[in-house]
Amino acid sequence: MSVNGLKVIEIINRIGDAIEENKAFLSEIDAIGDGDHGINMSKGFKAAIEMLKQYDGYDVGEILRKTGTALIYNAGGASGVLYGTAFLKGAEQVKGRKNIDISDFARILEAAIDEIKRRGKTKSKDKTMIDAMEPALDALKDALRKGDTPLEAIGEAAKAAYKGAEQTKEIAAAKGKAKYLGEKSIGHQDAGATSSAIILYTIYVEIKGYDEINGRNCYCVS
Ligand code: ADP
Ligand code: MG
Repeated sequence: MSVNGLKVIEIINRIGDAIEENKAFLSEIDAIGDGDHGINMSKGFKAAIEMLKQYDGYDVGEILRKTGTALIYNAGGASGVLYGTAFLKGAEQVKGRKNIDISDFARILEAAIDEIKRRGKTKSKDKTMIDAMEPALDALKDALRKGDTPLEAIGEAAKAAYKGAEQTKEIAAAKGKAKYLGEKSIGHQDAGATSSAIILYTIYVEIKGYDEINGRNCYCVS
């Protein structure tokens, strides 16, 4: 299975839709921070989608780079810089490529996680987006090792991301604005982990939906 630049742009558009649908919810759960995560993500993805409208190429690296840049300059908040630079690092993995496959996707996700950890000076179990992304990468790798199809592996990754996001309820925040609540943040789900789960689930649904509707004859997934 490979995904080309057009499909990647389509996926980023659908992520934008999913963020809009969940905008109020993402801000509501950011109550342990400052209540703006949905707004930040919405501003960032709207800007990314606008920027991609001006781009008529198919280079996946360039598409991810533009998305990252739009997030850095428009999303605001810690998440704008963290997601933004994560996209930039992901972009470096697939520079100049018109098609990417599942092992590229795993490398993108790994580079994104490493960058967020480095920039955010964070690790797993700090109650951040890492707590959704890292279990997702582990599940993806495990599934591929077991011989699952790429689509099944992305499905496992999305499921693990949701589970990881839910499990942030059990953790006291050690990073971001919620860290000031410390133990009092226990019982609340982390907003960034939740948006990471939404993003990964959207990628899964988009690839699955496309496969089912158009089979293997489409121009995007082969
Ligand atoms: P802000 O915290 O600046 O208001 P957002 O509300 O958009 O930004 O994003 C908050 C989310 O960002 C948190 O729920 C958390 O997942 C993530 N986050 C905050 N700080 C860090 C960090 N240092 N490392 C990783 N993720 C972080
Ligand atoms: Mg916030």
